[in-house]
Amino acid sequence: MNKIVIIGAGQAAAQAVATLRAEAYAGALTLIGDEPFPPYQRPPLSKAYLSGDFARDRLFLRPESFYVESQCTMVLGRRAVKIDRAAKRVHLEDGSDLPYDRLLLATGARVRTLPLRGAGLAGVHYLRGIADVDAIRAHLAPGVRLAVVGGGYIGLEVAAVAVKRGVDVTVIEAADRVMVRAVTPPMSAFYEQAHRSAGVKFLLNATAQAFEGSSSVTGVVTNAGNVAADVVLIGVGIVPNQEIAADAGLQCNNGIVVDEYAVTSDPDIFAAGDCTNHPAFAGGRVRLESVQNAIDQAKHAALGMVGRPSAYHEVPWFWSDQYDLKLQIAGLAKPDDLVVMRGDPASRKFAAFHLREGVVAAVEAVNAAPEYIAGRRLIAARARVTPERLADPSIPARSLG
Ligand code: FAD
Repeated sequence: MNKIVIIGAGQAAAQAVATLRAEAYAGALTLIGDEPFPPYQRPPLSKAYLSGDFARDRLFLRPESFYVESQCTMVLGRRAVKIDRAAKRVHLEDGSDLPYDRLLLATGARVRTLPLRGAGLAGVHYLRGIADVDAIRAHLAPGVRLAVVGGGYIGLEVAAVAVKRGVDVTVIEAADRVMVRAVTPPMSAFYEQAHRSAGVKFLLNATAQAFEGSSSVTGVVTNAGNVAADVVLIGVGIVPNQEIAADAGLQCNNGIVVDEYAVTSDPDIFAAGDCTNHPAFAGGRVRLESVQNAIDQAKHAALGMVGRPSAYHEVPWFWSDQYDLKLQIAGLAKPDDLVVMRGDPASRKFAAFHLREGVVAAVEAVNAAPEYIAGRRLIAARARVTPERLADPSIPARSLG
């Protein structure tokens, strides 16, 4: 067992390289990435890198010397196009191929595109990689009209950066509230208000139907009226990069299906990060889009690849930075959870705990690190805490449960 190949050079891949070498894997190690960069962190792309507060160099997860010292062969700017499972070889787009004993799929996800009229006009952007941000940032000047299609994390983070730069921002959202997939209604209402106070306009219950313009975009047509725009950012979710796995006959279902050890339906092929569909912490299956998942699942995948399988049961967590508001979420909320508010949203420092059958299942915390940390601990312990205790600010968060 002396040849490991990793397809995809992102967050999960970088972690897998580190864990494999830390676990004394001494065989050959090759990383194949289709972007021209070594693995980099994406969260700052819609935050400090977009605002210009974060230099490009700081995006890279590890210095080049790390890959040299890890004796990891980097094949960058080239796409893996096929896995031949019978011959155990990975084929690249340039016709070359590489043998593997064990393979890690860390292919991440790509943006969900909107196949609407005018989507190819100049000024219509998506955001997933460094090049996307470099293109968008150039437009963010005072007075420019930006239409953000999709009021999720990425759309709202971009809106926050843009409005601070004097850009005239309108967010177009199909649902009746923002961040609908990620947070509870009170949290959506709080964030919508925070953005409105900063000058962002919203068109809710509005679906983009086309983009207007002859060569460059001039507006967005929606079912609830038109929005004039000089630039458009579309942030309507991502789709897992699973095709290379599906074509090789691996089981896929909204992500590459893996077990709790990050093993696919082929015992020599592992997968980690945004591309996977895996057993969820609280039961069922889930596809997560987060740094935590990429890092933790890659660690478990690497352990399995060196013959020390260990099950992935970490509590999921996520964060978002908008203005001076740090949103930290742990656990996976469900619509039927009992939501207990702690603290006053008007203070811009509060939390919403989720109880499921009396057990703490999730926490959403705004500028409330102690509540978030306590929430993570309580979720991991599957602790029972009464709503009264959770809501009582006189009980320190660390003493809850
Ligand atoms: P990726 O980092 O996407 O890496 C996968 C890599 O594989 C990509 O470079 C891809 O091009 C490459 N690849 C795919 N197919 C092939 C192939 N066939 N051959 C070669 N290479 C291939 N998460 C948080 O937790 N908090 C945040 O605040 C947050 N903010 C975000 C902001 C933005 C703008 C974005 C885009 C993401 C954000 N995320 C955030 C999500 C987080 O960045 C991802 O969950 C994480 O990057 C997933 O890591 P990954 O390794 O699975 O995939």
